[in-house]
Amino acid sequence: MNKLFAANWKMHKTTAEARQSASELVGLVSGKLKAGREVMILPPFTALAPVVEALRGSAGFLVGAQNVYPQKQGAFTGEVSPGMLLDAGASFVLTGHSERRHVLGETDDLVGTKTAFGLESGLGVILCVGEKLGERKAGELKAVLERQIRAGLRDVPKDTPPARLVLAYEPVWAIGTGEVASPKDILEAHAFVRHMLAEIFGPSGSELRILYGGSVKPDNASEIIALDNVDGVLVGGASLKADEFSRIVLA
Ligand code: PEP
Repeated sequence: MNKLFAANWKMHKTTAEARQSASELVGLVSGKLKAGREVMILPPFTALAPVVEALRGSAGFLVGAQNVYPQKQGAFTGEVSPGMLLDAGASFVLTGHSERRHVLGETDDLVGTKTAFGLESGLGVILCVGEKLGERKAGELKAVLERQIRAGLRDVPKDTPPARLVLAYEPVWAIGTGEVASPKDILEAHAFVRHMLAEIFGPSGSELRILYGGSVKPDNASEIIALDNVDGVLVGGASLKADEFSRIVLA
């Protein structure tokens, strides 16, 4: 399975800035990307088209969206359908990101509906899960992960091609805080996610990728990427500057 390096740009960058960053990244990474690695940029909706354009023809680069609404079309003001994302050139979408769960109030149930609908509509999905600091301190890590994974994958067909479904373990306390989880924490959480995937999907659970996210930087990326059951990284803050993100991708 290819290691995935995903750049979540969140609510940053105008169309011109996005085009510029994506082109710069291609320039920095092209020809140097190790075999078995792929790079995904997840810009805001408004910058999907310019990023698709900037990456056109560059092997190993993908575009994803940060959110989707689980309906084909209709009276859902402000929302974007899977078909619209595919039309704009995105091939993946994030579901269950901690900011959607904890800032925008998305429930486990909605995350599950979005995940299944996104897959059914032809998108690949990166389903994010992770515990809050209080939950970790209360010894609830595995219970939270199990609840989010079971709900997130509730309606996902067991024969989903492994390349189209990615899990991301992102401890909420490590996102955007500069506080990265320790290798021991990451190993423990990823082993548990892998165990859950095997329970849900059987043997193909070992073929799904599990990303780590939470304050990944150029100086900690290579250590994280080398850990067991870590099949890539999901990067927020450090993905905004092409130079910084390229050092993670090439780590
Ligand atoms: C994220 O937004 O998914 C994330 C991991 O952010 P950061 O890298 O800034 O912690």
